[in-house]
Amino acid sequence: MQKLTIVMYHYVRPIKNSRYPGIKGLELDLFKEQLNFVGKNFKVVTVEKVIEAVSGKAVLPNQAMLLTFDDGYRDHYEYVFPLLRQCGMQGSFYVPSAVVEHHRVLDTNKIHYILAGADINSLMSKLYGMLDDYRQDGYRENDYVLEPNEELYAKLARANRWDPAEVIFLKRLLQTYLPEKLRHEIVDRLFLDIMNLSEEAFAKELYINMDEIREMKKEGMFFGLHGSDHIWLNKVTEEHMMQDISHSKDYFADVMDPEYLVMNYPYGGYNEAVVNYVRSIGCKVGITVEARMARIGVDDPMLLPRLDTNDLPPKSENYREYIV
Ligand SMILES: [Zn+2]
Repeated sequence: MQKLTIVMYHYVRPIKNSRYPGIKGLELDLFKEQLNFVGKNFKVVTVEKVIEAVSGKAVLPNQAMLLTFDDGYRDHYEYVFPLLRQCGMQGSFYVPSAVVEHHRVLDTNKIHYILAGADINSLMSKLYGMLDDYRQDGYRENDYVLEPNEELYAKLARANRWDPAEVIFLKRLLQTYLPEKLRHEIVDRLFLDIMNLSEEAFAKELYINMDEIREMKKEGMFFGLHGSDHIWLNKVTEEHMMQDISHSKDYFADVMDPEYLVMNYPYGGYNEAVVNYVRSIGCKVGITVEARMARIGVDDPMLLPRLDTNDLPPKSENYREYIV
């Protein structure tokens, strides 16, 4: 059995002195420290090497590590890429195609900026007010009934490893719980209210573009699939799931080698149909958000677990608990 520690990153940037100091991400200085730690304690491998290892064509070195960067933030081009190049490490990047192709801001990112841009109490009262409005209207199409706010809260608010209960409540409500149309509408209203910026302008600021992707690819970085619209692929129809994945594969065809395709499931959401489909289109490896070290030769290569950057120094020593 070969061990592989996969690490997940999202925002990596100078946060404290930025325009959005409330954004939850990894401070650039801490990323530099982490790369230092990684360089001393691990051996960063390429995705190509991991694919060869799961196929039995290569053996990973001891303390093998894979660095994964999700969601296509401009941070990854601006800050991460130059540092990785300098250290001679490969990063792998998973960009939902809609952010590049249509300059769409993912709901999940809108929610991050909503949370960063307002305090949680005023946000909660705004949200409750909106829910009351919709409830009173019976909502436009009158096609569902919303529970009272307190019931919703009791059902969804559970603190997790990273967020307090109110934040989880808001995220779960707006990411999955409410009917799709309603949650988009509420997220858009809150986003416009707090950010005061058009979605397209903000998308161009927030995400990487195709030229940057090509440049990174040319310099040895790896790009893998993360779907088109960053949806829970296990919660839509099979047809929708397949369409979302195949479109992103087509869109990024010139920066992805069909022999080395990787699927990174948005939100870690997958089921048997999703896994079978990505395997059928040629993916050799799938990446989830289950937090532990991966065991090559034991774990299903289509469901490799990974740690979060917060599990490693200088943020914490949690990674030691996940050693297998
Ligand atoms: Zn993602």
